Amino acid sequence: MSDDRTRAVERVKDEVCALHAELLRWGLVAWTSGNVSARVVGADGADDLMVIKPSGLAYNELTPQSMVVCDLDGKVLEGDLSPSSDTAAHAYVYRHRPDVGGVVHTHSPYATAWATAGEAIPCAITAMGDEFGDDIPVGPFALIGDDSIGQGIVATLDGHRSPAVLMRQHGVFTIGKDAKAAVKAAVMCEDVARTVHLARQLGQVERLQQHYVDRLYDRYQNVYGQDGAAAAATPATTSEGESA
Ligand SMILES: [Zn+2]
Repeated sequence: MSDDRTRAVERVKDEVCALHAELLRWGLVAWTSGNVSARVVGADGADDLMVIKPSGLAYNELTPQSMVVCDLDGKVLEGDLSPSSDTAAHAYVYRHRPDVGGVVHTHSPYATAWATAGEAIPCAITAMGDEFGDDIPVGPFALIGDDSIGQGIVATLDGHRSPAVLMRQHGVFTIGKDAKAAVKAAVMCEDVARTVHLARQLGQVERLQQHYVDRLYDRYQNVYGQDGAAAAATPATTSEGESA
């Protein structure tokens, strides 16, 4: 590996390790469940790689050194530990979605309750229009062990605005342009899953009219936050889309 390549891999290992703390912080995971991965873009014709959590390690034991580096077939290239048992699903997504730089998987309770009921979360609140631009869809039931989970994720999200899919009777997978965006989608997915569930206890929930959803999504994705026109004039501004 070239020095640049090694540095890029080390950077991604740091980032992926740190993002796992966010899953804990936002209450999305129990025990060792859940995982984050990120793509390492191959420069100068080198193949892309992925960095993913090791299998079965407690969250407080994770270090950048314990992260596992795999090729996009899920074969381990670097790391002393076995990669997450969800590695094949992550790898399938990276192989079939070149636009995806990060993948997250959790069994966060409210979103997984919707997945267990096999029901899409209706786009009933403005925050959903912003982040998901649609209902959060349900993907097929699939077992770990081959490409079926990955196929279900890719097929369900193909042409869909939502970066999150509720895999039936399993849990949530989210995608993003990078790992941080995928973590944000996982946090927001659980948040709206809880809110829409609570609203249902109070009465009927109506989906937003499609033209409102379209307007919310367009504004949030193109104008909102520090990434829009104002940021262009002040390039030093940080871009954290989530603050008001
Ligand atoms: Zn799972």
